[in-house]
Formats: sequence, structure tokens, C-alpha cells
Amino acid sequence: MEITKKIHLLKIDFSVQITPEISLPRFVNVLILFGNSITVIDSGVKNSYPFIYDYIQKQGRKISEIKTLILSHAHPDHIGSASKIKKDTGCKIIGHLNEKSWIENIDEQYKMRPVPGFYGLVDESVKLDTVLTGGESLTFDDDIHAKIINTPGHSKGSFSILFKDDSVLFTADSLPVENDIPTYDNFKELKKTIQNIKSIPDYKTLLSSWMSPLEDKANIVSFIEKGDQYLDRLDSCVKKHYSDKEEKPLDNCAKVIHELGLPVTFVTPLVDRAFKTHV
Ligand SMILES: [Zn+2]
Repeated sequence: MEITKKIHLLKIDFSVQITPEISLPRFVNVLILFGNSITVIDSGVKNSYPFIYDYIQKQGRKISEIKTLILSHAHPDHIGSASKIKKDTGCKIIGHLNEKSWIENIDEQYKMRPVPGFYGLVDESVKLDTVLTGGESLTFDDDIHAKIINTPGHSKGSFSILFKDDSVLFTADSLPVENDIPTYDNFKELKKTIQNIKSIPDYKTLLSSWMSPLEDKANIVSFIEKGDQYLDRLDSCVKKHYSDKEEKPLDNCAKVIHELGLPVTFVTPLVDRAFKTHV
């Protein structure tokens, strides 16, 4: 989908195997920047690369033109095809310092953040060629200007990218989506990030990994506000139940999910991990 002449968004469907019987349908958005060369932002899951290649070829461009791959953070649905794209194109890989160890060592990531079906989602570890710390002004493909804005909380090195010339803000997973699975690293950081993103002026289109593009300012404000209020609802419910002594693991997580009427598939160690950062 063409967002602007240079910035395109590709939605890629995949599923997470929660248990052998239950699989959770998800999707992730990948950005493709078409300038004098091509930059890909996020790589989807392990088997997403053919969709990216196909899209590029349908625009009349070549895979060999991919010079840069930016990873918005280390999670499997963003880095899954990174090593394959690197091998196929020799592109430079850019990521954040605070995500480096999990991108470069997926076993370490899995140990600390056990996403169900993890190894079905990520191909292999990949080395970063350039490491960001936030605040950088970068130029991609000779003529696409972007500002890197630190937006931690979902993960410790999550960042957003503001394309001022195109009036586009890409927030990856940095903003919570109302009633979606709560998978953040740090509740308090996430609340601060939401305030920070609310204060970013001068853009017309909001792109994220988890939703369709938002164009209208009122829609954008309402989307961010709903995510913020969802976090507040989670917070009061978590604080109510997480002081209870658990008879078995995930009991408190299940109480919160049940009370808020969220899908029972959300009761996972990953969500429990996010809830534990509230208290
Ligand atoms: Zn993520």
C-alpha cells in the first residue's frame, strides 16, 4: 500500500502457535522506503521475506536494491526474516543499542521472554552494523530524511521514526492498542512514551505495526487515548489482583484477563511478565 510516493506499507499475516491445538492469528506491518535505493523497516516473521520481495518486484524494483534494514526492536515478528534478507542482499542492519543483545542472540531473548512458538517465528540471530541510541537524524536512500525518537516501554529499546518531509510517524509496537494482548516490558516507561508521542507535532499519518494507517488527526488522537485508557484499566485491575497469593502460576493473570473480558488466550507467561511491571 502506497502511503506516500516513497513510503509504502506491507501488511503480513502470520499466526502464533500458543499450544499444539491453539494458534493465534496476528499480522505485522513492514515499511518499505523507495528512494534511489530501498530501505526496509522491520522484516516480519521467519517466512515473511517472500512477501517483501514480491512487493518490491511488483513496484518494478530489484531485491538487490535493498541497502538498509532497520529493526524497530528485537521481537520475533520484527526480526524474523532479518538474517535471510541480509544474506540475500548484503544490506546494512540498523537497530537500537538496548535491543542489540536480543537481536544478536535470539536464544538469550527466548530465555528472558518466552514467546510461544518463538523458533517458528524467528530464523536466526543477526549482527547489527549500525547501533542507534535515539535522537539521530538519518537519511535513507539518499533522499528520505528521518528522525529517530526513543519510545521505550513495549521493549527497552523501542523507537519511533518521524519522516518530516512526508509527514508520517511510524511507531512500530510503541503504542498499546485497546483490548490487544498486553506485551510490554515496562508499564511506567510505556505510560511516559504515550505522553511523549502525544506531544509530537507536525505529522499527518500515523503508521504502526499493529493497525491500518491512521490519517485524520482526530482519529490519531482518539486511537492513542484509547490505548492509554486501556493501560489505566489494566493497571487498576492488576493492582487489585497481583497482591493475591497464587495457588498456581498465572492465577492472578487469569483473574485480570477474565475481569476485563479479554480473550483467555491472553493468559500466558508473557502477559504475566508485563503485569508484574505494574507493581
Ligand atoms: Zn514488539
